[in-house]
Order: sequence, then C-alpha cells, then structure tokens
Amino acid sequence: MDKAAVELLICPHCGGDLRENGGSLICSRGHTQNIARQGYVSLLGRDAGTHTADSAEMIAARGRFLDSGAFRPLVEAIAEAAREAGVAEGSGAVIDLGSGTGHCLSAVLDALPGQVGIGVDNSKFAARRTAKCHERATAIVADIWDDLPIADDAASLMLNVFSPRNGEEMGRILAPGGTLIVVTPQTGHLAELIGRFGMISVDPDKGERLERSLGPLAEGTGSRELEWEMKLGRDQVRDLVNMGPSAGRMDEVDMDQLIEGLGPKTAVTAAVTITMTSSEENE
Ligand SMILES: [Zn+2]
Repeated sequence: MDKAAVELLICPHCGGDLRENGGSLICSRGHTQNIARQGYVSLLGRDAGTHTADSAEMIAARGRFLDSGAFRPLVEAIAEAAREAGVAEGSGAVIDLGSGTGHCLSAVLDALPGQVGIGVDNSKFAARRTAKCHERATAIVADIWDDLPIADDAASLMLNVFSPRNGEEMGRILAPGGTLIVVTPQTGHLAELIGRFGMISVDPDKGERLERSLGPLAEGTGSRELEWEMKLGRDQVRDLVNMGPSAGRMDEVDMDQLIEGLGPKTAVTAAVTITMTSSEENE
C-alpha cells in the first residue's frame, strides 16, 4: 500500500500508528489487519456491521452509470472545486468519506498532481473499486458513523459526495486550513424518476440538516447549485435506480415493466448543491 497513505491511518482497536508488514497493517500492540488481495484493507472497529453496506450489485450499477458519463458535469465541478481549494503538494491526503466506486476521488487526484488519496467506504465492494480507481488512491473499509481509523489532521482536502456525514470525525480529520467539499441532492434531483420508481425522495430541509451535521465545520461555508438535464437510455435509468438507497425497494418484475415502457431516452433532472467549507488555520 502507499506508504504516505498508511502513515495517515490508525489502528481501529487502539488508535496507534500502523505500518505495513508483509501483507498486513500492524500497530505497536500487535493488532493486525490483513490487506485484501484486491488491494484494500478493512479497518472496521468494534461496532463493525452495525450499518448496511452497499451491495456488489449497487456498486456495479453505480460503476456502469458513472462510466456512462451522465454525472460528468458533477464530477468536473468537484474536480474544479478541488483545484480552486488547492492544497500544498505533499501535505496530507485527499480523503473521500463514502468513496463508492472511487470515481470522484480519481477525478480529484487527476486535478491535484502529487496528492495521495484515501477512499473510505463501509462496503468492501466499493473498496475493491476504489483501490483500483487511481494509482495514487488507497482504499479502506470503515464505518463513517464510527470513530474513523484516520489520524488527526490527515486530510488536506475532504470529499463527501451523496454520503452520510459524521461532523465530529470530519472536524478531527480535516487539517487546519483544509477544505471540505460536500455534495448533497436538491429537492428536484431525479424528480422524474422518484415517484415512478418509488425512490426515496430528498428531505426538503436538507440545507438545515447539512449545517447541523457539519457542526463547527458549517461556519464559513460557500455553496453553489448545479443543475443539468440527463438524457438517459433504459439501462442507465435502471442503473440509476439500483445504485443508491432506493435499490431493491421495487419488485423486479414491476421495474422491468416500467423500464420497458420508457422511451429510448428519458429526460431526467440532476440538481445538486456543492458546499465548500474550510477549517480554520491554527494560530
Ligand atoms: Zn492497535
């Protein structure tokens, strides 16, 4: 694994520093975490398995959908925001909390030459893909809601794209002067599909919730809204429904019928808010 990334990880059991030792990461007390042959390491703590992780099918659907380019405006906007935020070369890492397929992390690492990236996801299927998303990416399995196995001030830039937020841990990990980029859906996001496919709709007080969830990091935020129209083929619609929290809510036969009834291209609105916030520099 990337040595610079391993130096930013800590033991999920005792919080001690980790080092690589023949196919595992080990702390000074001897807690050992095996590196999977797919290149990621699981650093789940005591409460492992409390939250459901994205399935292999969800991650595969997300990979196909993102590879189709339908979210390209968002991926480009995130990379642009990362470039604007700028980080000193070699300082800390780009840490993506809820990295999924690693698609966004990879775009940001391309935008920031010399930076190392760490993708965190509680799904091993996500971690497998993140581990391969970029030559400077390292992937770990950890639960976003738990204490994270990442050292204090490890992130020069933090990403959180359509993912749960643990404000306390995010504040601890974000280095002084570092930037957090959060992407949340707006109420109109995927509006054309939500009702038809019984998808979970966006909570209308999302803005307020975002502030609450970020705690002290909510100070000094700036945000921009991004909206674009996607023209999606049937397979893209199916992947879009199956890649997120609404996966598996609908009977497969019903879903097939609905997809069948769509035209060759369906217009779907994507509407998101990109929020950027910087942690205060140390005095
Ligand atoms: Zn330990």
